[in-house]
Amino acid sequence: MAYEAENEGFEAVIGLEIHAQLLTRSKIFCRDSTHFGAGDNENICPVCAGLPGALPVLNERVVEYAVKTGLALNCEIRRQSFFARKQYFYPDLPKGYQISQHDLPICGPGYVEFVSGGAKRRVSVTRAHLEEDAGKSTHHGDYSLINLNRSGIPLLEIVSGPDMRTAAEAADYARAIRGILRYLDVCDGNLEEGSLRCDVNVSVRHCGESALGTKVEIKNINSFRFIEKAIEYEIHRQTDCVLNGERVAQETRLYDPDKNRTFTMRAKEDAHDYRYFPDPDLLPVTVEKDWVEEIRSSLPELPLARAARFVAELQLPEYDATILTQERALADYFERAQEACGNPKAASNWIMTEVMRNLNESGTSIARAPVTAERLGKMIALIDKGVISGKIAKTVFSAMWADRGDPESIIAEKGLAQVTDAAAVGRIVDDVLAANPSQLESYRSGKDKLFGFFVGQVMKLSKGQANPELVNELLRKKLRE
Ligand SMILES: [Zn+2]
Repeated sequence: MAYEAENEGFEAVIGLEIHAQLLTRSKIFCRDSTHFGAGDNENICPVCAGLPGALPVLNERVVEYAVKTGLALNCEIRRQSFFARKQYFYPDLPKGYQISQHDLPICGPGYVEFVSGGAKRRVSVTRAHLEEDAGKSTHHGDYSLINLNRSGIPLLEIVSGPDMRTAAEAADYARAIRGILRYLDVCDGNLEEGSLRCDVNVSVRHCGESALGTKVEIKNINSFRFIEKAIEYEIHRQTDCVLNGERVAQETRLYDPDKNRTFTMRAKEDAHDYRYFPDPDLLPVTVEKDWVEEIRSSLPELPLARAARFVAELQLPEYDATILTQERALADYFERAQEACGNPKAASNWIMTEVMRNLNESGTSIARAPVTAERLGKMIALIDKGVISGKIAKTVFSAMWADRGDPESIIAEKGLAQVTDAAAVGRIVDDVLAANPSQLESYRSGKDKLFGFFVGQVMKLSKGQANPELVNELLRKKLRE
């Protein structure tokens, strides 16, 4: 159960820093490939290996993706921004500094809106800045190896305001950011592979206080569920600390999902320890207003707006609209299916049950679903026209999923169409009445409830294919005789 800090008169203050790896084909300051899975140190050159005298050249596509994301996050886009050197020593950072942006990042203040706990929330985005990734060290007994393929991979760091108060809200914010990045196609949002990394800042304070408590950072949490659990744990730990009269130490911690607790990684350096200064190798980044407007006009409809449209124009419940718009491909699939049948709610129901269940079970993405949106729509139209019942449709759907078939040919081949021929249904009704003389007698002596029993028997004998309205009509008639 979620820990409620409010119960103790405390509230949590939560902010997130999300590092998104941008999906450009080459690195941020050189022409090496960003391809994941290349051999060790295959994608390196003097620039990203940090050799003396090598000069960085900014990749324009990186700037475009940053502007695109900034616009989607309602950020102010700076006409001129600067790169700075952030000094620190790591073996996998050969230059001895990371090229980042400091006081004038490309994206200034903005905000993101999303739904959390059934309500619309707005969280401020303080800034979003560009930086290069570092290399990766691996440790093997008494020696270590360094792979610089990742050195120079473009990252966009999106920093939220300290606006969140619960773990669930913070996880929903992270999900919203991931959704937007994926809609924009600027980041694949894969937390497990590290193309989206979340650092969480948490502090607690007495309710009603306006000063912030001592902030603890939890680094590199690789799932939304763990973000939530790590924050819950941390709120609990810090509240206990304060209640016991101890001081919360300013530090960086890591979350261990197996033990469901956080532990100290290192004491936090203050920001000025990095000794930022403008990078003399790089020119200021100037973006023209026309270019920004061009990018703005190319933005796709984003998840929240799309969900609102599904509710307003297609009368979908909020719940359905939120689920269907989480992934752009899923929302596209839904739109094509509902256009093909003209029944949005039925399309939504089928997608949220049969389609999603089959995708989960087979580990397939919606883009590769064996049942196309058009065929699903066509099948729903056949239910609505009374050609097949909803129950038989499940059989048709399974056959479509297994063989990539068309609903009409499957219905024809397997003889699944509803029986609407009065003579044929009449014969089944006669058989049922003849086979159940005692129930017939009870019904005729006043046990009206048995009507349902007869309907059930007729449906069973027709293998679910008799048209239900016709069954009702003929049964009433014959029972009166
Ligand atoms: Zn390079």
